[in-house]
Order: sequence, then structure tokens, then C-alpha cells
Amino acid sequence: MSFTVKGWCPGALRPMQSGDGLVVRVRPVAGRLTQVQAAGIAQAARAHGNGLIDLSGRANVQLRGVTPESHPALIADLAQLGLIDPDIATEARRNIIVTPFADAATYALAESLQTALAAGPELPGKFGFLLDCGSAPVMADTQADIRFERAPDGQLLLRCAGSDLGAPVTEGRAAEAALDLAEWFVRAGGVVDGRGRMARLIASGVRPEETLRPQIAPATALSRPEPGLTVQGALVGFEFGQMHAETLAALASLGPIRVTPWRMLLIEGLSTLPDLPDLINEAGDPRLRVFACTGAPGCPQAARPTREIARALAPRVAAGQKLHVSGCAKGCAWPAPADLTLIATLEGFDLVRDGRASDHPAHTRISPAALPDLPEFS
Ligand code: SF4
Repeated sequence: MSFTVKGWCPGALRPMQSGDGLVVRVRPVAGRLTQVQAAGIAQAARAHGNGLIDLSGRANVQLRGVTPESHPALIADLAQLGLIDPDIATEARRNIIVTPFADAATYALAESLQTALAAGPELPGKFGFLLDCGSAPVMADTQADIRFERAPDGQLLLRCAGSDLGAPVTEGRAAEAALDLAEWFVRAGGVVDGRGRMARLIASGVRPEETLRPQIAPATALSRPEPGLTVQGALVGFEFGQMHAETLAALASLGPIRVTPWRMLLIEGLSTLPDLPDLINEAGDPRLRVFACTGAPGCPQAARPTREIARALAPRVAAGQKLHVSGCAKGCAWPAPADLTLIATLEGFDLVRDGRASDHPAHTRISPAALPDLPEFS
């Protein structure tokens, strides 16, 4: 089954049509929401949407079930909260993911990078930046075209996708250096018909050495965090990254919120885990091993439902493994390779091992009833 590639990311000002209405994606500045902002989003989701809120793999917050009629009032409410950019182009450029474990220096870098990007070159809609500046990277499985990490000795490194090494850069010049690299990407022919990714350009043999000399390996990456208490607060997960507005409102009453690309939220300052509906608080919960997009009927491109299958198979997925159940070959819920990927088709499910939803399947046309009997799930 074919799928539509839009080449742009939906936002708040440019929402995306889905089976249950418009999906309005809010990009919190530097991945942070004040308590007032988080409570306001929850209120707006109830007033102008269907009350369901998704966390995206790009550390964004999505309100579902918005209608063309309710969209203007929603934008007005979000603008009051300081969550709306002046225009679509500015919103699209602000594609920066910040580690939820950021310190003040990292937030300062995020701010200067955002300012620099506003005056920078026009970049493809999906071109993104990532600030993973803790002592060891924690967002290695989150895609980004340009990222900051640290070397084992603590030096800040600027890295481009497609290269294992980074170039040392001072904190004071970091934003400018990232912008130089983005400008090099454009000059080097990375953008074709408005699209392009850094990894693809580097893979074609074009090297950025005139702008960036990657020479230092970053610190060894840690695996993605699990729910639990951290130095910064309580990290809580959600099944398929979805919650009800009431849950977000309750979390907002507890502290400021940091949005992660792991479909988890970090509630600042908590020393105990909140006990609320929708939350996954246990590290090792099998639901954290499965990824599933909205599927049918929520997404018009989906061949069949996905989440019931993923929920049923989760206990059969071995610890440390990932199962991705996708409504079509686009693979929105988990763009990276997974140990097992099931892709819905009109004839059943296709199965890809160690690959993406768009990769060649090892098995095709598996009936949903037969899935639990596959050796992969027994
Ligand atoms: S992967 Fe899922 S959400 Fe994305 S387009 Fe396909 S069916 Fe829709």
C-alpha cells in the first residue's frame, strides 16, 4: 500500500488532517512547558479538540480531534500561552530537540541557536537540530541533521548526521558553528526540490571539512532512559505516547514539564513518582518496548488498526527488543530500524526483521490472528 510523503512537518499553524480531525502540533520552546502552559494546553485540548494529547518522537505535544472551525480559537488560546510562532516559516525553522536533562548552559545554547536559525538559510521541513549535551549522549536513537554532544573529556562537539565523529566547538561559538554547517549543507547541494537530509548528503560522498573537521569521537551513548526518578525530576511514560487532557492538567499542577523524544514527560523537581491514570511508571514495562502509530481509523493512510495488536504482543517482546506496528510503510511511530516491524496491509501484516517499515519484508500477508504464533513472539 502506498503512502503520502508530505516533505514538511505539521505544526500548530499548519495542522495535519487525520481520521479523527486535525492534529495540531505544539513545539515547546527548548522542550519546556511552564505549569501555566501545560495546564493551558490541557484546557485547550478539551475545549477545541477531542481531549486526547499525543507526545511525538520529535519532543512535541499534539492535540487531536481539532476541527477547521475550532482551530482559530485554539491558536488564539495557545498564542496567549506564548506557544505560537508569528508565521508558518518561523514555526518550521524551530526544529530543535533539547535533552530533558539539560543544564543552564544547554538552555542558553538552545536560545542562541533558535535566534540564529531565524536569520539562517531556508532548510528542508524535516531538517532538525538536537542538543544532547549531558556527560554522555542519551538521544542516539533520535534522528537529527546537526547535533551537539560531548567528548569523553567534556568538550562540546558539533556533529553532522552521517559522521561518527564531531568537531570541538566553544560554547560561545556553538550556535554560529551550527548555522555555518547548515549553510554549508545548502551550498553543497543538500536541498533538492525543497527536500534533503544531512545523512543523505554525507553518504553521497560530499564532506563538510571546509566548515567542520570531525575528528573526535563523542562519549559512549547511553541507552534511552526508562521511567523513574532522575536528578531533574520524575520521568513518566505513556502507552503509545498518548494521554487524556485530565492527566496533563494533573501533571501541570505538580511542576514545570520537560518534553522528551521518548514519548515521556519529565516533571521537574519531583522526588516521588506521580500516581495518575495513563502513566507508565515502571522501568521495564513491556508497553515501552512497542511503538504503534494511530493506525485505522485515526489515520486515513492506515490499512488496519495497529494499537490493539501492539498492546496484545507487548508482553511477548523480549526485554531490550523493540516491536514497531505500523499502519502503513511510512512508519511514523518509529522511523529508525526496530528488531521487529509489522506493517499493516489490506491482506494482513508484513514482517520486517531489523529494519524500517519501508524495508523489504521477510514475511508477507500474515493474518492478525496468526501473529502471536510466530516464532518471533513465542
Ligand atoms: S505510519 Fe501510521 S500514522 Fe503514519 S501515515 Fe502510515 S498509517 Fe498513518
